[in-house]
Amino acid sequence: KSPAKKYEANRRAVTFNDVAGLEGVKSDLQEIVDFLRKPEKFQRLGGQVPKGVLLIGPPGTGKTLLARAIAGEAGVPFYSVSGSEFIQMFVGVGASRVRDLFKTAKDNSPSIVFIDEIDAVGRQRGAGLGGGHDEREQTLNQILSEMDGFTQGETVIVVAATNRPDVLDPALLRPGRFDRHITVDRPSMKGRLEIFKVHVRNVPLADDVSMERLAAGSVGLTGADIRNLINEAALWATRQDKTEVHMEDFEYARDKILMGARREEALVA
Ligand code: ATP
Repeated sequence: KSPAKKYEANRRAVTFNDVAGLEGVKSDLQEIVDFLRKPEKFQRLGGQVPKGVLLIGPPGTGKTLLARAIAGEAGVPFYSVSGSEFIQMFVGVGASRVRDLFKTAKDNSPSIVFIDEIDAVGRQRGAGLGGGHDEREQTLNQILSEMDGFTQGETVIVVAATNRPDVLDPALLRPGRFDRHITVDRPSMKGRLEIFKVHVRNVPLADDVSMERLAAGSVGLTGADIRNLINEAALWATRQDKTEVHMEDFEYARDKILMGARREEALVA
């Protein structure tokens, strides 16, 4: 069994160029990239070494993509887990998986550990209905003790993602743990336009396609939604034996996706 999935070495590294919009977020994260590139330089001056970064925002806004891009920009390995993986595990398994993950990351330091959906495992301890939460608590305790336990020369940055920062155990947010919080919002009009441009790079477009109009008409959609929209439009055009994707295909796909997004919102409300 492999304790941590490492992104395949031959897969093209993701960089900040693959992340459209989010300029402020990228410039905040540049500091982490610089640090991973030359940890000794920072440590020599006794600078405050960053340890944990919490990316906060709705699903599909590019948090995983950003974490991979930090690793790609810095040229360091990337190890990831999702908090939801731990939910069905037997007692002790989660904690040992966390131990293995951090061991691999430390052995290959400098490196990045990414914990997606950290709220699944990082909810406030003792908040359940008593009992039955041992596994989750042990896993969380292991994450906390790993973050406290880095020694000199082990440069591991832990990036975590959540859309529920309010439910996190306060111990996770203490100084020396996830003390940097970066908000990753749904894209603005300009952000959506840039995301469209990134994702149509390999799509043959008809002359009538206006990215500006598509971006303006996709209020509320995330990067993941836009990627999905472009896929749907290309499939729809293919099904009609077109050789290019036309504005009407994009509009068809957009309406379909906007309807899906609204249905989800209604279910949540
Ligand atoms: P989740 O919390 O569900 O994991 P996430 O915020 O981590 O969501 P990603 O998994 O990074 O979102 O995004 C899914 C996909 O959507 C990305 O792989 C990418 O193709 C696309 N995407 C999202 N945001 C952007 C963006 N800002 N620029 C370009 N592509 C994006």
